[in-house]
Amino acid sequence: MHPELIKLEKIFTPSVLTKIDDPLLARYKIDLWMKRDDLLHPVISGNKWRKLKYILDHALSLGSDTLISMGGAYSNHLHVMAYVGKLLGLKTIGYIRGEQPDILNPTLLDIKGWGMELRFLTRAEYRVLRQYKYNRALPGIKLGQYWLPEGGAQLLALKGVSELLSEIRIPYNTICVPCGTGTTLAGMINEVPDEVSILGFAALKNAHFLNDEVAGLLSQSRNNWHINLEYHFGGFAKINADLCAFIEDFEVKTSIPLESVYTGKMMYALFDLIKKNYFAPGQCIIALHTGGLQGNRG
Ligand SMILES: *Cc1c(COP(=O)(O)O)cnc(C)c1O
Repeated sequence: MHPELIKLEKIFTPSVLTKIDDPLLARYKIDLWMKRDDLLHPVISGNKWRKLKYILDHALSLGSDTLISMGGAYSNHLHVMAYVGKLLGLKTIGYIRGEQPDILNPTLLDIKGWGMELRFLTRAEYRVLRQYKYNRALPGIKLGQYWLPEGGAQLLALKGVSELLSEIRIPYNTICVPCGTGTTLAGMINEVPDEVSILGFAALKNAHFLNDEVAGLLSQSRNNWHINLEYHFGGFAKINADLCAFIEDFEVKTSIPLESVYTGKMMYALFDLIKKNYFAPGQCIIALHTGGLQGNRG
């Protein structure tokens, strides 16, 4: 790996594992731990660092001088990419979904401040760009430019994600992970111990396509995983009073902040499933906090 990346990695991994104390868990005899990837680094937090690590290494090994990617106006992926790009001395270009707003939101202000060139696209243009995923190169890309598909969803991302499993030193039955593109989930499927099941929670509505996407990213088929599609709360980034109350209550009880797009919905779902006796008493569950708290400023 590139020396600059090794230096970065040493600063912040492994992330801590925090035990969650809650009377509900005691009542249902569930041991719940949270893998705190939100604490990796104030900016380079969560699964986006894990996913980007080997992608960046690949870009550097090719001698690239520019990273190009795409994302929404609150994208955690672009936020991390802009920051790391600046640290590594790489130019960054971000295609942003939607018209340029009169006033940039905090995420866009950050990434612009870190030197990212922002290119705003209509929703239709953005959808076209989405087709260039996995190893499909972006048309018109120039020498030295390195293309990353939306969310950093590509095979190189899987290896970085799988490494977080070796940081977990306790026995456990289930590991839970929020899903956008499903890349983080896919990165863990091949690498978890045989007796562990993986439970993903979709952040998008009608996310049935995720099953195929994830299966397509796997090097071998396994049946240790399942994606729950029920807890999207009306769609991506949609919230309701119930969810907000849960997130607030969770933070009061545990001092762990959640965001409402991914990990907040997953934790709500997890507690709901526990109440519905989804998990056998005595089970140990690990929930991955994927970070992304910067998006809460929206
Ligand atoms: C991007 C993101 C996810 C989803 O990750 P995928 O690999 O796309 O499934 C989950 N949580 C946070 C905080 C994210 O930023």
